[in-house]
Amino acid sequence: MLSLPTQDRLSAPVPSVFPAVRAQVGLAPYTSFRVGGKAEWYAEPRTEEDLQACVAWAHSQSLAITMLGSGSNLLISDAGLSGLVISTRFLKQFALDDQAGRVVVAAGTPLPALSRRLARRGWRGFEWAVGIPGTIGGAVVMNAGAHGGCMADCLVSAQVLGADGIELWTPEQLDYGYRHSSVQGSDYIVLSTTLQMEPGWDPELVKAQTNQALRARKTTQPYDLPSCGSVFRNPLPESAGHLIEAMGLKGYRIGGAKVAERHANFILNCGDAKAQDIFFLIRHVQEMVRDRFSLNLHPEVKMLGEFQPV
Ligand SMILES: Cc1cc2nc3c(=O)[nH]c(=O)nc-3n(C[C@H](O)[C@H](O)[C@H](O)COP(=O)(O)OP(=O)(O)OC[C@H]3O[C@@H](n4cnc5c(N)ncnc54)[C@H](O)[C@@H]3O)c2cc1C
Repeated sequence: MLSLPTQDRLSAPVPSVFPAVRAQVGLAPYTSFRVGGKAEWYAEPRTEEDLQACVAWAHSQSLAITMLGSGSNLLISDAGLSGLVISTRFLKQFALDDQAGRVVVAAGTPLPALSRRLARRGWRGFEWAVGIPGTIGGAVVMNAGAHGGCMADCLVSAQVLGADGIELWTPEQLDYGYRHSSVQGSDYIVLSTTLQMEPGWDPELVKAQTNQALRARKTTQPYDLPSCGSVFRNPLPESAGHLIEAMGLKGYRIGGAKVAERHANFILNCGDAKAQDIFFLIRHVQEMVRDRFSLNLHPEVKMLGEFQPV
């Protein structure tokens, strides 16, 4: 794709059909790490049509597109992102099909809210998602999971937007694996998904199981400071947290970033962290674990933008 110099792109007129597109918007408030620079362009479409119009505009300006859900699995560089960042945070509808026990969910719907709504209705199958602070779109992309459940277990299909228009993808096309889907690294955008649930349970029972899932997380994971959840994928059958803990790295700090004492696979922003601090800490942990255990820890968090090398 052709890329225009930043100055030319900034002077490109924003068509009036995109009232939501803004220039130079700070991204830190839109990520769970609370770090990161500015988006060259930023849009918060209110409808699917609005989103498609934003995509068409970005293509017409030869701008790269970055999709943003809740930003709960992202480390965005302090230098920010060029191109157009599209947030799905206002695309949060869902519709229940009682007959089929299915729910059709728009990309920006938060997982915890959906999990609680389904529990109140006595639908099982989404209790595991209550403590994951992401959107459905991000969860489809990441194959998010917890407590033995994951998106791959309940996804019937996903509606995605590609260069040739809207397509309906099957689980096979999504090629699900551990925190992996074929959408990762592609230019496809998840618009919505259809999930299969188990209706007809006692709502009190499903609510209790949902609450239990949340309680279990809060006793083992730090929720008090900004983070991205688990930083590294587990090098199965090993656990990344155990390896990092074995290195004595709990509490290890670079700038405002620290390896959490409660869970070694979490890095916390202690208040004044730069994205670069977190990046250096990630590299430090990787190096230590590689030297001691001859194992490569692969980040689960998506690192976007330019970082200074170590
Ligand atoms: C405290 C905490 C606990 C966590 N616990 C868990 C856990 O137990 N299990 C787990 O799996 N994860 C966990 N996470 C990580 C994170 O919540 C999940 O990966 C979640 O699925 C990310 O969703 P998101 O909407 O925040 O995506 P983002 O972080 O915004 O984006 C993630 C990736 O998906 C892409 N993307 C987002 N939306 C779309 C879309 N509509 N179309 C195309 N691409 C898109 C982004 O470009 C990016 O590459 C945790 C995070 C935190 C902060």
